[in-house]
Amino acid sequence: MVSRSLVFLLLLPLAVAPVAASAQSGTARSSMETSTISTAPPGRDPDQPIDVEYTKKIHEYTTESFFLSPLVDYLPASKTVPTPKAVLGDIAGARNNLPYSKEVYAYMRMLAKASPRVRVYSIGKTEEGREMIAVAVASEALLSKLDENNAKLSKLADPRTINMDDAEAAKIIDNVAPVYYITGTIHSTEAGAPTALMEMAYRLAVDESPYIQNIRNNVITLITPIVEVDGRDRMVDVYNWHMAHPNETAPNVLYWGHYVAHDNNRDAMALTLDLSRNVLDTYIGWRAMVLHDLHESVAYLYDNTIGDGPYNAWLDPLLTNEWQMFGWNNVQEMTRMGMPGVFAHGEFDTWSPGYLMFMAATHNGISRLYETFGNGGTAETMERTLPPGETARTWYKQNPPLPRVMWSLRDNNNYEETGLLVSLSYFANNRHQFLENFYQKSKRSILKAHTEGPAAYVFSAADPRVGTQATLLHVLQLQHVEISRATAPFSVTIPSRKSRPKRGAAADTGSAPAKSETRSFPAGSYIVRMDQPYSRIADALLDYQYWSPNDPQKTPYDDTGWTFPENFDVQSVRVVDPAVLSVPMEPVTGEIKAPGGVTGSGTVFVINNNGDNALTTLRYRLKAADFQAAEDPFEAAGKSFARGSYVIRNVSQGDLNSATKELGVTAYAVASAPSVKMHPARAARVAILHTWTSTQTEGWWRQAFDVAHIPYSYISVQDVAKDPNLNAKYDVILFPPSGNTQSIVQGMPMWRNPMPWKKTALTPNLGVWGQTDDIRPGLGLDGVQNLQNFVSKGGVLVGVSSTADFAISYGLADGVSKNSTGRGKIVGSLLRTRIVDDASPLVYGVSDSLAVYSEDGESFSVSNTRGGRGGGRFGGGEATRATGRGSVDDPDVVQGRPKLAERNMAPVQPTVEPWQATPVTDEQLRNPLSIIPPDQRPRVALRFTDQQHLLVSGLLDGGGDVAQKPVVVDVPVQKGHVVLFANNPIYRGETLGAYPLVFNAILNFDNLNAGRRLDDK
Ligand SMILES: [Zn+2]
Repeated sequence: MVSRSLVFLLLLPLAVAPVAASAQSGTARSSMETSTISTAPPGRDPDQPIDVEYTKKIHEYTTESFFLSPLVDYLPASKTVPTPKAVLGDIAGARNNLPYSKEVYAYMRMLAKASPRVRVYSIGKTEEGREMIAVAVASEALLSKLDENNAKLSKLADPRTINMDDAEAAKIIDNVAPVYYITGTIHSTEAGAPTALMEMAYRLAVDESPYIQNIRNNVITLITPIVEVDGRDRMVDVYNWHMAHPNETAPNVLYWGHYVAHDNNRDAMALTLDLSRNVLDTYIGWRAMVLHDLHESVAYLYDNTIGDGPYNAWLDPLLTNEWQMFGWNNVQEMTRMGMPGVFAHGEFDTWSPGYLMFMAATHNGISRLYETFGNGGTAETMERTLPPGETARTWYKQNPPLPRVMWSLRDNNNYEETGLLVSLSYFANNRHQFLENFYQKSKRSILKAHTEGPAAYVFSAADPRVGTQATLLHVLQLQHVEISRATAPFSVTIPSRKSRPKRGAAADTGSAPAKSETRSFPAGSYIVRMDQPYSRIADALLDYQYWSPNDPQKTPYDDTGWTFPENFDVQSVRVVDPAVLSVPMEPVTGEIKAPGGVTGSGTVFVINNNGDNALTTLRYRLKAADFQAAEDPFEAAGKSFARGSYVIRNVSQGDLNSATKELGVTAYAVASAPSVKMHPARAARVAILHTWTSTQTEGWWRQAFDVAHIPYSYISVQDVAKDPNLNAKYDVILFPPSGNTQSIVQGMPMWRNPMPWKKTALTPNLGVWGQTDDIRPGLGLDGVQNLQNFVSKGGVLVGVSSTADFAISYGLADGVSKNSTGRGKIVGSLLRTRIVDDASPLVYGVSDSLAVYSEDGESFSVSNTRGGRGGGRFGGGEATRATGRGSVDDPDVVQGRPKLAERNMAPVQPTVEPWQATPVTDEQLRNPLSIIPPDQRPRVALRFTDQQHLLVSGLLDGGGDVAQKPVVVDVPVQKGHVVLFANNPIYRGETLGAYPLVFNAILNFDNLNAGRRLDDK
């Protein structure tokens, strides 16, 4: 396997000219009437020779005759155009043949060189510098006028350019070719697409059958054969290792992309990954109408696009109809061809817009997704047995897959190619309708401002967090949303939330119209107009989500809420009144950045802590400067500064000015430091700790730290196990969510062979940033001990969700216990919090009503005793009286007992709130063994709010067991601290409002006790 590519590159000249069965040319077909070829059945043109050798191999590698279709059971021959064999040395989907990206690209470029019907475009780079490409395939005629065609499509994509003139649009639709964009292998273990797409590109370029000609002459097919290029090359490495060690257990592909694995297909909202930006720019740039993303999981081909409800509420219903059209046509045509196991619908809900394919849905196109059957990233042919649930007949799966089959990469490629060609044919035949819909959807997106609304979203220039506001607006810019800026102050009228009638009130009092309120905004405020073609993605990201607990869909497929302004902790006002569109404004050109720089003069500088993440970036940028954090609010330079604001010395005004300008931070120079209690805010030495069992979720932490330019060491549990003096290297160890406690400590089973994850000659693409000779060992008890020592000697350990569980389980966080709510009550929702202790450095700059992401409603309880659970019960510890005399408020009287004197009555217990620990009693102190000393007790920084105000966005069923419970807790452990998060504050590049909670732990690592009030007992 190792030398395969080399060998076949040498053989290449011999492989270019495939065997021709017949010399007759098929070009005469291109002049065939459109009406005739559009109804042509799938299948080869008998006048065109086939590549006999290649065709023979197709049949050899296909394990059952019914896994073939008339579209792929032959390969047309060409005298000039090389087949995939030229690079692969075998056919596409061959047994034990999985190409690297460079081989796939080499073939596509070879194809482009040999055929005037193929062009290859570079569309950008990945995080690790690998190239991404898009391959365009169409007739020579279409490719020769690509620019002209694109200009026409652009008019349909932005009907403002033709004054929304339907007659003009109709003329364009008659003379334009739509673009169908196919993307492969975003998920690295779903490995079949690249070879299927290599061969399909060949077929589209070479095949003279009327069925294929019809596609080629009427549709521009655009192909990105590999979306996750970094992950593809790692997948092939691991596969090659597996083939070189046939009797050993191979490691999983631990890292796909540089940051995340499966979650790369959840990035279509925040666009944090290069692959997302590159695909979206390509989709928009080409004015593509379909984005069809290829995946592998269930047998044999599942068009999951239609899925199940609830559908995303911000989409044009025209699109949901198009899903049905494509999906059912796919099922019908492939069933007709005799291929079993092709189905649409199924359980996948279509609510979240985070999937790659959804870029089309939210930009007036058509999102599509296939799940085909795969063997988990290997090119081996294997016997596969399906569970009964997958082979059962359901209303949407009338021809289910077989219980047991041999399955090959070729079978997968047959299904993918057949499905895609059927879709392309349907698209070609119905292009007028789809183009009309494309125009209508674009037009309706513009009319939206005046029809269903809203008219706009407004972002005030007076937002306290202008830096994060700029980041949010930049996400919209990446989404190709136009943003305007008011050139004068203005006001808008919005419905008043407070005056909403209570439930049932309207019936009692007659109709009570909602009162309105006026909001004023300064000049320079941003306006996101909804009368623009890409209004829907802006609306979907900026609006609130509500998933009813009564929804028939009980298993949401992904997050149910994401409201970006809440997630970023940025103010945004949804304005329905179209008057806002007449406010004097100008379009924003260039990337939106917050204003910054130093004003005034002096040698001391003060910066308000507003929770902008750029403050932490600044601290690391100016490492030599003296940063002090104020422990109380103060006044300086005629302004008010919040608790946690920075007083900076030992930096020149010039250096600070250029750094703050670049980062969008405002600093004030003053003559002398304010007289306020301060402590140093140091640039702590940070480590991000990972396991080898689960590396996905921590990837979002690395991404956040890289974006914020906060340096960190990336260490594994095995490194911690070997290092008894972690304090020598690190001040803060962050342990993002990473498997359960048992797997953290024990790692993987030590049965069988070591499993290396290492860059070697055989596996050159395994990253050098994280390596080990054997991924199996976990943290071990030595590692637990080393972490304990690290904390007790002054280090800060941050535990998050599952790693908070770990810290609690191993006694690193006395007095804290974890509560969970059953999944299904909260699924990836945004929940409202309140600050409990505003003197805690953890909440410097954090809003008092911050919305946090909650995967399933995890929360803590705190206690003053070791191993104790809980503080107050729900609603506080209410006293109840026993059955006895009198009414409910009366004291009971025991017959025959002396009357109770004051001294005989139990002391009155104070009310204990759900976020508090029950106070220590004198009775407990008689033997205080388990009573935690006051200075070592957990300190709650942040809690969930009350039940009524808990839900911000998404699904919340009940919530009484979550309401008011602690979310972020600081636990002093001897000289150090363990900081615990019940939720994950750094997630998918979407939770920027919660990042400061983590960054504060870093900058205040040696002063987390600041402002702490200790219990008396
Ligand atoms: Zn997938």
